[in-house]
Amino acid sequence: MLNIILFGPPGSGKGTQATNLIEKYGLLHISTGDLLRQEIKDETPLGLEAKNFIDKGLLVPDDVVIGMISAKLDSNSNAKGVIFDGFPRTIAQAEALDRLLEFKKAPINIMLALHVNDDALAERLLKRGATSGRTDDQDPAIIRRRIEVYKNETSPVANYYGTQGKLVNIPGEGTIEDTFALLVKELE
Ligand code: ADP
Repeated sequence: MLNIILFGPPGSGKGTQATNLIEKYGLLHISTGDLLRQEIKDETPLGLEAKNFIDKGLLVPDDVVIGMISAKLDSNSNAKGVIFDGFPRTIAQAEALDRLLEFKKAPINIMLALHVNDDALAERLLKRGATSGRTDDQDPAIIRRRIEVYKNETSPVANYYGTQGKLVNIPGEGTIEDTFALLVKELE
């Protein structure tokens, strides 16, 4: 199995690059953001709980997202590998993921971390909000809070995989094609 974490702040291009990478490598794409938005759309109890956090620019509680990931891995046990996008976002999530994968004897192989400066992130997110209908992308204050939450709660996850020797940093400010080429070069 090839298990990849695509890491980076909101707006760094994780979703876009994950879509390109699964096409090239035939992997399963697991995006906690997409899974949560589907739960909200379906008006499930989990979705209703998650919405309160997402609308405020805060992280959804760890047990909720860890449960979602565990179920998703169970229902795709024959996948040839997984691209994790938007997960893990806290150290507790990273520890839980490592435990789940240890059980499957298929650890994370690599964390690809995209780097984009804060001004570019805010600009990209507002632009996405104008067309995607995502309300968390439409309010500059919420966007700023998400970037703060990333710095405080999520960025330590890079060090967590860094100490395992799995972290690779990738500049993400170029075009979609430029960044994709850098990711592919690293994986080959
Ligand atoms: P982005 O990375 O562009 O902010 P996502 O679609 O990954 O977008 O996530 C949207 C929102 O969903 C986040 O702001 C957060 O509230 C919630 N979310 C997604 N993944 C997680 C996670 N692993 N842990 C906690 N909350 C999450």
